[in-house]
Amino acid sequence: MDLGIALEIFAMGLAFGSFLNVCVYRLPRDLSPILPSSKCPHCNAEIHFYDNIPVLSWILLGGRCRNCQAHITPRYLIVELLTGALFLACYAHFGFTLATLKYCAFAFLLLGLIFTDAETHLLPDKMTLPGLALGIVFSVFVPVNDVASQLLSGALNLPVSDDILWRILSLCDSLLGAAIGAAFIYGAGAIYLRARGVEGMGFGDVKLMAMVGAFLGLKLTILTIFAASISGSMFGLSTVFSVWMKRTRRRIQRFQEPAREARARAWESARIALRRHQMPFGVFLGGMAIVAFFFGDEFLRWYWRLL
Ligand SMILES: [Zn+2]
Repeated sequence: MDLGIALEIFAMGLAFGSFLNVCVYRLPRDLSPILPSSKCPHCNAEIHFYDNIPVLSWILLGGRCRNCQAHITPRYLIVELLTGALFLACYAHFGFTLATLKYCAFAFLLLGLIFTDAETHLLPDKMTLPGLALGIVFSVFVPVNDVASQLLSGALNLPVSDDILWRILSLCDSLLGAAIGAAFIYGAGAIYLRARGVEGMGFGDVKLMAMVGAFLGLKLTILTIFAASISGSMFGLSTVFSVWMKRTRRRIQRFQEPAREARARAWESARIALRRHQMPFGVFLGGMAIVAFFFGDEFLRWYWRLL
């Protein structure tokens, strides 16, 4: 790893993270991410370029607008640092290759979608659909090397050179990942809606998984969906549990209820609260997709050996 290149890639990540913050705010509101230039959402004062330097400006201004002193969410700082860190991690993991470019683009899109989903419960088409197209295009340059490549490479007898053959197979893998990733979430969403009567996953999640599938291929897409379901359920359960504990304590202290009755009633209300609360499942899908492209292959190899 070359230190100079690493620093440049990190700085580029910070700059892209800064742009991503603009996208997270503007895309779900149907505003252009490019024009007009940044304004304080509070007082509408234009933000000068020297107050728009990634990370530094936020820290120097103490997380406040220079003009009106309104609080600026630390999300700006977090997204910039995370984008920089992920770009750097891609370089450390894949070296100075086209794969690094592919996974930097993928990480950029996923971070944007994760934070947009967490803040607004929306996964804008303006991120997922270009992302899907980009994932398919990249498959022709960086091998996805999944089920189709492994099963068809010997069986397929096309009158083309090896260099073209792997690109065709890689493209098949990308399309297969996109189609099955989307179908899986669509099916799970339909089952969830029937069973619980509320929408757990929307079309945003379906398009998000089509994008993830195009970048990762089938195996890692399935792994992403399973890991996201497990981490999402664990998060849901721990939320119910902590709400239950808090409400039980409040009932005992404030209303002087006997402990047993307080526990039962608090459990009832915690369950109702969870049912009304819509979990942003895209956060878990996106987060696990990032874990999958770094560690998924290694994990699957370890898992097969275990069986
Ligand atoms: Zn302001």
